Amino acid sequence: MATISLKCKCGQVRGSATGITPASGNRVVCCCDSCQAFAAHLGVEADTLDEFGGTELFQTSQSQVQIETGQDKLQGLRLSEKGLLRWYTTCCNTPVGNTINAKMPFVGLIHTFIDVEDKNATLGPVRAYVQTKHATKEPDYPHHSAKFPIGITLRIIRKMLVWKVTGKDKPSAFFSDDGRPAVKPIVLSD
Ligand SMILES: [Zn+2]
Ligand SMILES: [Zn+2]
Repeated sequence: MATISLKCKCGQVRGSATGITPASGNRVVCCCDSCQAFAAHLGVEADTLDEFGGTELFQTSQSQVQIETGQDKLQGLRLSEKGLLRWYTTCCNTPVGNTINAKMPFVGLIHTFIDVEDKNATLGPVRAYVQTKHATKEPDYPHHSAKFPIGITLRIIRKMLVWKVTGKDKPSAFFSDDGRPAVKPIVLSD
């Protein structure tokens, strides 16, 4: 098991994720238009999106993530009233991760915040390239799904159930123990 370091581009926000193995989470690339809109809103598309508009994420439990410095520079944002709660750093607009809420104790850490040299060895291979119906051009990924494949959805649901029964849903760097976001999220209107 590895402890991986997490760091924004300018280095003011730093943290770590503990207990990481290739089997402990899901490494996925998401091409959905919301992930693209998030990177565009922050003005960091070049650093965040691959050539097909995909964002690489590592889904893990929130309690495995600790923010050690710069917690006050962590900001949550929803693209719409009911959208995912997406986190970034206000110091340098580094995309940090995507959450749903405190009851769904996972976070999709965005590669821009993951400071790991050998991702294949530490995080395992990319398990799924999803939502490629929104890809900006015909992708040449080794395999891909137009939407979100059921296998990877079931895998994350199974993990969330295990995290809940093993108490890995708390504490969270993103939500207080009563389930409220750590800071009041910004909501963009459509
Ligand atoms: Zn920064
Ligand atoms: Zn997405």
